[in-house]
Amino acid sequence: MTAFPFDNSYARDLEGLWLKAMPSRVSDPQLIRFNNELAQELGLDLSAYDDPGLAAVLTGNDIPDGAQPLAMAYAGHQFGHFSPQLGDGRAILLGEVIDRQGRRRDIQLKGPGRTPFSRNGDGRAALGPVLREYIVSEFMHAAGIPATRALAAVLTGDEVYRETVKPGGVFTRVAASHIRVGTFQFFAARGDMGAVKRLADFTMARHYPEAANATRPYLALFEAALERQAQLIAKWTAIGFVHGVMNTDNMAVSGETIDFGPCAFIDHYDPDALFSSIDQNGRYAFSNQPLIAQWNLARLAETLVPLIDANQDEAVRLVTEVLETFPERFESRRLAEMRLKFGLSTPREEDAALFKQLLDLMQLEAIDYTVAFRRLASDADEVGQDSDFVNLFADKANVESWLQSWRERLLAEGTKATSAGLTMQVANPAYIPRNHRIEGAIRAAEDDGDLGPFQKLADVLARPYDDQPENAAYQTPPRPEERVTKTFCGT
Ligand code: AMP
Ligand code: MG
Repeated sequence: MTAFPFDNSYARDLEGLWLKAMPSRVSDPQLIRFNNELAQELGLDLSAYDDPGLAAVLTGNDIPDGAQPLAMAYAGHQFGHFSPQLGDGRAILLGEVIDRQGRRRDIQLKGPGRTPFSRNGDGRAALGPVLREYIVSEFMHAAGIPATRALAAVLTGDEVYRETVKPGGVFTRVAASHIRVGTFQFFAARGDMGAVKRLADFTMARHYPEAANATRPYLALFEAALERQAQLIAKWTAIGFVHGVMNTDNMAVSGETIDFGPCAFIDHYDPDALFSSIDQNGRYAFSNQPLIAQWNLARLAETLVPLIDANQDEAVRLVTEVLETFPERFESRRLAEMRLKFGLSTPREEDAALFKQLLDLMQLEAIDYTVAFRRLASDADEVGQDSDFVNLFADKANVESWLQSWRERLLAEGTKATSAGLTMQVANPAYIPRNHRIEGAIRAAEDDGDLGPFQKLADVLARPYDDQPENAAYQTPPRPEERVTKTFCGT
């Protein structure tokens, strides 16, 4: 049996949409972490490899049978400005496998060296961003949020040159696909509608096969992708995730979270939360994410217009109509996510206001978002005066009166506080990848060669909803001097 049962449809069906690329040799590959559970899910049979053998494959030193290494072409709007040619400059697709559930998954190396799209870059990844992506993408998965996955993190044994010299790494990313809004833009910007159509057909077959049966398949494709984004951003909002660099090249049409560069999770509740060091205008701030998602979807819509109707005015009208449903869809998805966090099971008119009241109180006092919901969950059946939840707030009168309304709302739908508490335990994580913890793990790894904090953090975050009393310290928000307020891009 071959180790990787590759079946490379992008290479086979979309000639002209990618370029050949070969990983460049690295000196001394060392496996840092390998995701056995995911390897199983993918149906890989790696029994023939020892750790060094696996590290060689996962840096690109050894190309496994059946792989067809390539770099995908894509463009993208970066902070609102169009770059017609980006492409995989720091990533190489090894190929695709069909997983145990019949889903087609990409296996891609990030940081394997230069490709035809590298421009002035070295095609390499520093260890820090590799570790960040591992931690955050696996956490997203554990929290039930669609995201690309981490198969492995490997040290290359070579140095990379950034602001300072850093250890190099390679990250193995697994994705439903790497088709981005920017992939469509690349060909649309060149007026190559033949390529856009082939890409749209491929995307439809791979991600939204039901669209093919619609009266207007490409409009249905757009609507399906839009719905998936509304669901995704609603989940980000509910958990407090700030992507940080929602350029159109960093939005996967599959609806998975992709590219964990300057991303961060909010600690205290703040709708304006913004971490990325390069985002001066707050374009990608926490509460701006649904607006940006819709903006990005408008860019996708533009590429599909010629396919939707021979009459372009009619096509624009149709696609605009769908695009304009985004805010409403997002809000209804967000409320659904929030209802789970609040232990509610039926929608009610007053929910939006009830949720906002608590969020406003949390914002006013800069209360830790994750801790607050977790305490509300564990105190659900006894929240009164002096509960752990109430004690988070200085202004107790206000929060107690809010609790009263929440109790009444639970009663009104016939939900017992005790059972609400139980469902809330699985909707509100105890553990999130706190920025200061990620930063600590990266500093230890890059500066001291100590991978212990990374391994520990990854272990703790694999079970975000479990109490794990022995790891309670990982629940704690940063002390003021520990707070990380700026994050940097993943290069
Ligand atoms: P990102 O900011 O990671 O989404 O990357 C934006 C674009 O820059 C993509 O086309 C990447 O392939 C490219 N890029 C980023 N870092 C590097 C690098 N070190 N070498 C070559 N290309 C890179
Ligand atoms: Mg990117």
